[in-house]
Amino acid sequence: MKVKDRLSLQFTFMFAVLLLMVLTGIYLFVEHNRVKDFFTKLDDRAVTVAQFYLAEDNLSKESFKTVLKKFPQSLSNETIRIYDDHFKPQFIREGTVRWDLNTLKDVVSQKQVHLSQDNQQVTGIYYADNSGNFIIMVSAIDVNGYHDMHDLGLIMFFFFLASLIITYFMGSVFSRIALLPIVRITNDLKRIRASSLDLRLPVAQKKTDEIDGLSLTINQLLEHLEQSFESQKSFIANASHELRTPITTILGEAEIALMQNREGEVYRSVLTNIIKETDRLSYIINSLMELIQTNVENSDFQNIRMDELLWEIKDDLSDRATRSRINLTFNLPNDPSKVTLQGNRALLFIGISNIIKNALKFSDNKDVDCEIFCDATGINILIRDKGIGIDQKDLTKIFQPFYRSANALYYPGYGIGLSLTNNIIRLHNGKIEIKSTLNKGSEFHVTFPNYN
Ligand code: ADP
Repeated sequence: MKVKDRLSLQFTFMFAVLLLMVLTGIYLFVEHNRVKDFFTKLDDRAVTVAQFYLAEDNLSKESFKTVLKKFPQSLSNETIRIYDDHFKPQFIREGTVRWDLNTLKDVVSQKQVHLSQDNQQVTGIYYADNSGNFIIMVSAIDVNGYHDMHDLGLIMFFFFLASLIITYFMGSVFSRIALLPIVRITNDLKRIRASSLDLRLPVAQKKTDEIDGLSLTINQLLEHLEQSFESQKSFIANASHELRTPITTILGEAEIALMQNREGEVYRSVLTNIIKETDRLSYIINSLMELIQTNVENSDFQNIRMDELLWEIKDDLSDRATRSRINLTFNLPNDPSKVTLQGNRALLFIGISNIIKNALKFSDNKDVDCEIFCDATGINILIRDKGIGIDQKDLTKIFQPFYRSANALYYPGYGIGLSLTNNIIRLHNGKIEIKSTLNKGSEFHVTFPNYN
């Protein structure tokens, strides 16, 4: 079912419930007043009859009828009976109309009784007079009242039906108008394809309502999509370039070697080059495999003391670059759980050591400061170098696979390490921030939230 129809139906249903309650209330109120008015009429009738009858003492059966006739019968199916206080009918035989003893006793005890029997309303009054005490019972049918109530019920029913139909149509018009912006957004979105991700939804200048908020959110999503499409495109272009270069070199070397018979020395040099390029190829492929691995949800998490991990990285790197120094500083609380992280040890080792390796590499093995501390945000690791620095415009780009800044091209590397590190840190819900000044140095700030 379309949202428009669902909204109209819901709107109509709500209105129907509300209208039903109001109409029922009105109907019950009118019915209550009708019954009350008719009882008042019956009471008046009973009192008047009693007064006239009792005004004339020793009234005979015939004169009772005359008295009754003096008052034109204003009520339909009216029956009047008078009983003495021994519950004996007076002046007239009971006939078909009679009230049971309990009702008469109720009249005596309560002085006045109102009751409804079938479609008749009955009033009974206890009337004291010098010639004795009497019970006067009057019953009648409120034919006009019933007629009016029937008419009122019919009018209300048709009014109810008509209101529902009108409400449904008005509801569908309103919901169509309300949903118009969404239909517009849908139509606009249909125009946007992978090849036209640069298109955006129109947003009002003031951005006041929810629809503008929705358009804005979709636009942000498109922005992200466009960016990730772009970075994927450049990743593929860079990856194929990086893979093609060693393959072309290997092929070229082999073909040149095979063109004619050569000295053993030449073959050795060709094979050495081929091995070098194959190493490069295998390094790139391994890095790409690691990159893919970090994109997969990793369940192999364990408790890792980050201070210990930093010691291990320092040991590992000091072996390789003995001339450089990594100065570790620990500002840690006594509670070891504050510096313990749930994570994958091997990946974290790769991630953090990549940053430190870069710091050493891009500062020509000057000393690197590495500090670890805990604060409200979690576990913080700061890695500072006094190297070549990073251009501000490159600060976001260096996380893209294969991206290398212009000033880094004289240093060995393939531009994969930082994107791998970024993925590893994100896998551990962490973030990485960089401050850098060209030719002065860089500071990499890694934060891991600690839930302990
Ligand atoms: P690689 O080190 O192989 O070039 P990375 O992915 O590790 O690749 O780094 C990407 C780029 O980020 C580097 O090429 C360099 O331009 C920049 N970079 C990273 N760390 C530093 C640093 N400490 N100082 C200066 N530039 C850096």
